[in-house]
Amino acid sequence: MRFLVVGSGFAGAVLAREIADHSEHHVDVVEARDHIGGNCYTEKESETGVTVHRYGAHIFHTSNLDVWKYIHRFTEMMPFINRPKASIEKGIFSLPVNLHTINQFYAKKFSPLEARQFIDAIRRQDITEPQNFEEQALHFMGEDLYRAFFHGYTKKHWGCEPREIPASVLKRLPLRFNYNDNYYSSLYQGIPKGGYTAIFERLLDHPRLSLTLNHRWQPDDGRSYDHVFYSGPLDGFHGHRRGRLGYRTVFWEEHIETGDVLGHPGINFPSMDVSFTRRREHKHYEYWKQFDKSIVFTEYSKETGLEDEPYYPKRLTADKALMNDYLSDCMQTERTSFMGRLGLYTYMDMHQVIAESLSLARDFITAIAAGQPRPIFPEGFRRQLVASGSRLRP
Ligand SMILES: Cc1cc2nc3c(=O)[nH]c(=O)nc-3n(C[C@H](O)[C@H](O)[C@H](O)COP(=O)(O)OP(=O)(O)OC[C@H]3O[C@@H](n4cnc5c(N)ncnc54)[C@H](O)[C@@H]3O)c2cc1C
Repeated sequence: MRFLVVGSGFAGAVLAREIADHSEHHVDVVEARDHIGGNCYTEKESETGVTVHRYGAHIFHTSNLDVWKYIHRFTEMMPFINRPKASIEKGIFSLPVNLHTINQFYAKKFSPLEARQFIDAIRRQDITEPQNFEEQALHFMGEDLYRAFFHGYTKKHWGCEPREIPASVLKRLPLRFNYNDNYYSSLYQGIPKGGYTAIFERLLDHPRLSLTLNHRWQPDDGRSYDHVFYSGPLDGFHGHRRGRLGYRTVFWEEHIETGDVLGHPGINFPSMDVSFTRRREHKHYEYWKQFDKSIVFTEYSKETGLEDEPYYPKRLTADKALMNDYLSDCMQTERTSFMGRLGLYTYMDMHQVIAESLSLARDFITAIAAGQPRPIFPEGFRRQLVASGSRLRP
């Protein structure tokens, strides 16, 4: 049998490697870009020697021990804790909002209990069932912290009023009454020592794998294969025939300076007074090396035009309705599985994408060994269908 994998990000590369490792079948990987690794791609910038994360800084984190062990087969991880800062008019503050942020912001010396009581007194308790992001934030932390750290950032990042964004988006962001400023609550966290691209080179280095770069998948490509695994955009697979799913895209301005520019890997700029959302100084993700010069990426968000890379699925109400229609189309598509953050039209961190591909590969190998009917859908696809209220079941 021969299989085709579309896309060489973590979704495609892990899936392809697993099938090559655990079956005797051949896998062809096609990639539209001129390099592997999807949005995790890193490369050495020539003037500074710094490893830059070309599509935005990526910090690996997971609480899934299997995924943590898996990634260690392909790289050494250097310890790293993501501790972003926020620059606002009042000064530079610690994120995510924690006891230090609250004490700095209100110029207090609250204990955890005092801070909790203080926030309880100022938060909007009259909003009992928050209907959107803004109400959720006001209910959580009150007007001041919301305006300072979330309102402008959210508006710039998503390009809409926070009132238009589901409350569930904020539920994921922590508000802490201790000094823990670790952005993630995962058990394991790190940065790959040799950069991300080296992981993908090793993942795709297998005698039963072949790779073609600069090839954008076409509907006829799958004809000669027994199964296609598609990690490109969901609406793109169906030729956008029902319309386009909403995405935000990001773009970066780069500049090089001598010495240390930010003094930190990442600073967010929530204020509406500046048009960008955050700045990243990449050499601080490679803190074990010395560099004379430094490169800083300043990040902006905008609507995704026809030529832009889709980054963040917007998942507004109209998008979800369209997504459900496309998911129904997927179920009618023979010999094809959809995966990854684009194929499933959902934001996923790297560890989630890897876990999904490992599990999809396992299910697929079991199914072909048993001669069971296909297509096979990953867990994320099944979750999307259930969440959409669809009666269709893969
Ligand atoms: C700015 C930013 C920062 C992030 N930071 C983090 C972080 O710190 N930690 C974290 O865990 N996650 C982070 N993520 C998420 C992470 O990027 C994703 O989890 C991961 O890239 C998903 O892998 P994927 O294979 O699904 O998609 P991608 O990495 O996007 O790979 C998809 C690949 O498919 C290719 N492709 C698309 N369409 C076609 C086609 N028609 N034909 C051929 N090839 C095609 C694309 O070129 C791409 O290479 C971040 C995401 C963004 C946007």
